[in-house]
Amino acid sequence: PCSPLSTKVVAQFYGAKTIAGFTHDFRNKYFGCTSALLRPRNVADVARIVEKCQQHGVGLVPVGGNTSYCGGATPSAQGDQLLISMQRMNAIREVDVNNLSMTVEAGCLLSEIQSAAASENLFFPPSLGSQESCQIGGNISTNAGGVSAVRYGITRDLVLGLEAVLPNGEILNNLSPLRKDNRGYALHHMLIGAEGSLGIITAASLRLLRAPLSQATAFLAVRDIGDLMPLLAMAQSATGEAVTSFEYISNSSLQLLLNKVPELRRPTEEPAEHYVLIEAATSSTILSLDPAMEAFFEAGMEQGLILDGAIASSEQQRKDFWNLREHIPEGEVLNGSSVKHDVSVRVSHVGRFIELGSALVNQYGQGARLSIYGHVGDGNIHFNLLAPEGADNAAFLEMLQTEISPRIYDLVAKMDGSFSAEYGLGQDKIQLNEAYGDPVKRALMSTLKEAIDPNNIMNPGKVVRPGKLGSEAEASSV
Ligand SMILES: Cc1cc2nc3c(=O)[nH]c(=O)nc-3n(C[C@H](O)[C@H](O)[C@H](O)COP(=O)(O)OP(=O)(O)OC[C@H]3O[C@@H](n4cnc5c(N)ncnc54)[C@H](O)[C@@H]3O)c2cc1C
Repeated sequence: PCSPLSTKVVAQFYGAKTIAGFTHDFRNKYFGCTSALLRPRNVADVARIVEKCQQHGVGLVPVGGNTSYCGGATPSAQGDQLLISMQRMNAIREVDVNNLSMTVEAGCLLSEIQSAAASENLFFPPSLGSQESCQIGGNISTNAGGVSAVRYGITRDLVLGLEAVLPNGEILNNLSPLRKDNRGYALHHMLIGAEGSLGIITAASLRLLRAPLSQATAFLAVRDIGDLMPLLAMAQSATGEAVTSFEYISNSSLQLLLNKVPELRRPTEEPAEHYVLIEAATSSTILSLDPAMEAFFEAGMEQGLILDGAIASSEQQRKDFWNLREHIPEGEVLNGSSVKHDVSVRVSHVGRFIELGSALVNQYGQGARLSIYGHVGDGNIHFNLLAPEGADNAAFLEMLQTEISPRIYDLVAKMDGSFSAEYGLGQDKIQLNEAYGDPVKRALMSTLKEAIDPNNIMNPGKVVRPGKLGSEAEASSV
């Protein structure tokens, strides 16, 4: 039930239908309510909206493409928060080809930024399955990762400066695209990954690279999970650190997809337990990566690390390999959905984590099916669990969440890993942060939140609980 706000701010041009698409999250896990979706045209309008919300004590939820996997952009169910979208602030303000930088407004889609860079023979690396819908403001606020972070880093590594409206309505102009700028605190980093809890990002200066001119891509069947990292090291050496993606796909994940979408084909002749999609890229007009990839492949076969595989011999074959990887999450949906764990461990511990995690599921999971894949070149594993065929799906998934997820998260903690590698905390993982996060870090986050947003108007109920966490940490340090 939704009780609309008694506020004078009205969604003038957009009816309830438009708002409806924004009141629940992408996975339909969280349902909220609001009376208005505000779409400002410029930073001054954003500042005015924030000032008004501050005056009236109204919570403001920034929403980008609404592809968050942790309910980060869903308003509360009480209808007491407003949504603010940067959709109309989608100008590319500047491309400085010689500075290898681009200044964009927060509402630009990631795919638009990629195209604008490409039209200058330049490249903005983040690559996500959601790139046609997610906005750069959302990418920066979640510090998004994706499939090319192994070479180019995560979003944080590619942001040079930000413009943002702070919770008191002031405009922080930290948009400089300088490569070196040590004038005190790097405040833009405070907003990166803050999930809208410390301010609204309105524009960003981004670091660009020279556009890759050629790629070499291979789909490999790997002998053993423990061989993944030696293979990555071999590929990095053979290509001169040109590996841009190193994506793991377990046979169980692939099989879930192939069973439901028979027109997709396994690229290797024989099934194996473990697969890797590896891609290297170069912007060189002279060097070719083909001989390097072939040499790596041959060496891997000779040493027995690679059982089978194929190097893409055409752009179509490359697309076919990626098509398989990109449809893996769909395979889970087609098999009744999954309980997801977006975790990370040290790159050197990936194989061990997958072994120990799988053993836990085999021991306690009552026949649960595993789907393991992810950006293992960054230590990021999507360790997902499905109900066995024929089980009461909803009840089984609930059992997995209460009985197995804590065991997985305990294992991650024991291995000094992270219970949230890519997607952030949003409203989904606040409790996990309270269970597994460092109390001093949590208290410092609360202190920062209270200092910058004392009335808690900026995305309330996400990331941190002001006050509560601070007092908890104080109590534990007495
Ligand atoms: C198919 C699919 C594949 C995905 N793959 C990946 C992946 O590989 N790697 C990855 O990291 N994520 C992935 N995601 C998750 C998601 O796409 C990312 O988190 C993305 O960065 C969110 O961007 P968005 O514009 O949709 O933001 P939203 O979902 O709209 O918002 C996300 C958070 O940012 C805040 N926010 C949005 N805009 C602003 C702003 N201008 N100022 C301040 N705060 C703001 C919101 O309040 C919210 O807390 C995937 C999602 C889908 C659906």
